[in-house]
Amino acid sequence: MESVNAQLLDGKALAQRIQTQLKSQVEQLVLTHGRPPGLAVLMVGDNPASAAYVRNKERACAKVGIASFGRHFPATISQAELEEVIHALNQDPQVDGILLQLPLPEHLNTVYLLHQIDPSKDVDGLHPLNLGYLVRGEPGLRSCTPAGVMRLLREYQIDVKGKQAVVVGRSILVGKPIALMLLELDATVTIAHSRSQNLADITRQADILIAAAGRAKLITADMVKPKAVVIDVGINRVSDDSGNFHLVGDVDFDTVRDIAECITPVPGGVGPMTVAMLLENTVLSYTRAHS
Ligand code: NAD
Repeated sequence: MESVNAQLLDGKALAQRIQTQLKSQVEQLVLTHGRPPGLAVLMVGDNPASAAYVRNKERACAKVGIASFGRHFPATISQAELEEVIHALNQDPQVDGILLQLPLPEHLNTVYLLHQIDPSKDVDGLHPLNLGYLVRGEPGLRSCTPAGVMRLLREYQIDVKGKQAVVVGRSILVGKPIALMLLELDATVTIAHSRSQNLADITRQADILIAAAGRAKLITADMVKPKAVVIDVGINRVSDDSGNFHLVGDVDFDTVRDIAECITPVPGGVGPMTVAMLLENTVLSYTRAHS
């Protein structure tokens, strides 16, 4: 097969540009309204991956001037205690965004707790009201990872209208909202999942292939249509022959890059875009509160 040497979709660089713009916007907002936007990231327990994500989010907040009201709770916190914290943050005028870092320990009811977040502060876009707005195509707070994927496509001027898009993964966090956002832009969308038969036959139809299954290197070159746009949402921690851990996506990058038109790297693709969209949602929620 002739190598087309895919263009890299550089989410890291784009996320930095978005953060630079947000920083000057936040400076203006502080001058106008006398306080910075505020984000509360709630973390429960000591999941190392979650702790790393939370650190990234708080660092990014500091860079653009968003105030962090994050709290870290022991894994033993009760449902009632966490609910009370969320209700207090809903009332706190300094806080514009509330994010419950998932997954939560088993004894906590995640869906119930997500429902407790004021939809106007739901910067992760997981409250049913915001998901409902997405289904209806109305403005609302949109889930950060799917919004990050769409922004990346937009910035690289990848037109999805009329194209065949295949999303591998149907989670409420990633797969389903991405599919709806692609549909909103007039793509013809197929959602594949763990029960889909003949996955390769489905993915080979894709002009735009979004991999969000959480399975390391699931998508190999033979599953990709030549010159497809390939977006890799997966983040999988794998060990190499020497026992060192590193992160890989759901796409076998080294072989797929020879066949795709453009492709996101892991890390440095969708991950940084997720954080940038979280900051943008926090600023959006702030500006709405002041309008
Ligand atoms: P999930 O486990 O909730 O959902 C995975 C989905 O993939 C399911 O719908 C399942 O049906 C499907 N699936 C699993 N195995 C499959 C297979 N062999 N073939 C086809 N479909 C299969 O995961 P999630 O929360 O949607 O996350 C997906 C991936 O994206 C994970 O690797 C996660 O770490 C990553 N992620 C990345 C970001 C980011 O910022 N880049 C954000 C969120 C999640």
